[in-house]
Amino acid sequence: MILFHDQLTKRENAQVDIEDRGYQFGDGIYEVIRVYNGKAFRLQDHLDRFQRSADEISLQLPYNLERLSQLLQELVQTNQLADGTVYLQTSRGVAPRSHPFPEESHSVIVAYTVEAERPLNHLQNGIRTMTQPDIRWLRCDIKSLNLLGAVLAKQKAKEHGCQESILHRDETVTEGSSTNVFLAKDGQLFTHPANNLILHGITRQVVLELAADMGIPVKEEAFTLQDLHRADEVFITSTTMEITPVIEIDGTPVGDSTPGNLVRRLQAAFEHQI
Ligand code: PLP
Repeated sequence: MILFHDQLTKRENAQVDIEDRGYQFGDGIYEVIRVYNGKAFRLQDHLDRFQRSADEISLQLPYNLERLSQLLQELVQTNQLADGTVYLQTSRGVAPRSHPFPEESHSVIVAYTVEAERPLNHLQNGIRTMTQPDIRWLRCDIKSLNLLGAVLAKQKAKEHGCQESILHRDETVTEGSSTNVFLAKDGQLFTHPANNLILHGITRQVVLELAADMGIPVKEEAFTLQDLHRADEVFITSTTMEITPVIEIDGTPVGDSTPGNLVRRLQAAFEHQI
């Protein structure tokens, strides 16, 4: 079953109109929520970010977050999803194609579940990455359906045998194409501040909380490509990739090319939460 508007229904009953603004303009927003043992992890944080993204583009959600939360949990239960993800999106609805907001439109909500194992191989062994210029727009804090910048960056990573692209504006590292980036240097963590240049990742937030609990100092400060290449440890975070060590950047090993001590400790603490 899927969620379409405010109903759980069979996938074949959901139709996307050819003039849906999400389809034509990417005029909409989304969330990806992890489900562990049948429970949506940090659901309220995702819903709050969904509301914030909607507010930032003046998109009126058709019903409140409480109702949405109930429907999503019903969806997970109905589909008997134990481990996987919920994909949730809304578009500004259907209207004759024209750039400005339509006078009248009804946003379209869709959600569906996907079964997925945790990425244990990458969590254990780490991933290879490459750096690329960040060609995206200047409101990366909005989880918008416009993902072409991320799609192109991820595709290039794949073509180079890498699992993620680490993006930079001039010399400043911002985030990954679908992840936030942390580095460790001399026992301290650094990550880009949560401003308009990055998505304010839920997993990033979890790591900040865990680090505070564990007494690991963190600076929410932008760092450079040179800092990245000189880091003791680098890792990326996201809902689907959790806390994944980076063992290689642009063909150069990070540290001794194996996941470091800090990332291992954070991973262990994260496992206690899920
Ligand atoms: N940054 C970008 C650009 C993303 O697309 C994502 C997730 O999709 C993240 C960071 C990580 O965010 P979260 O931890 O909320 O999944």
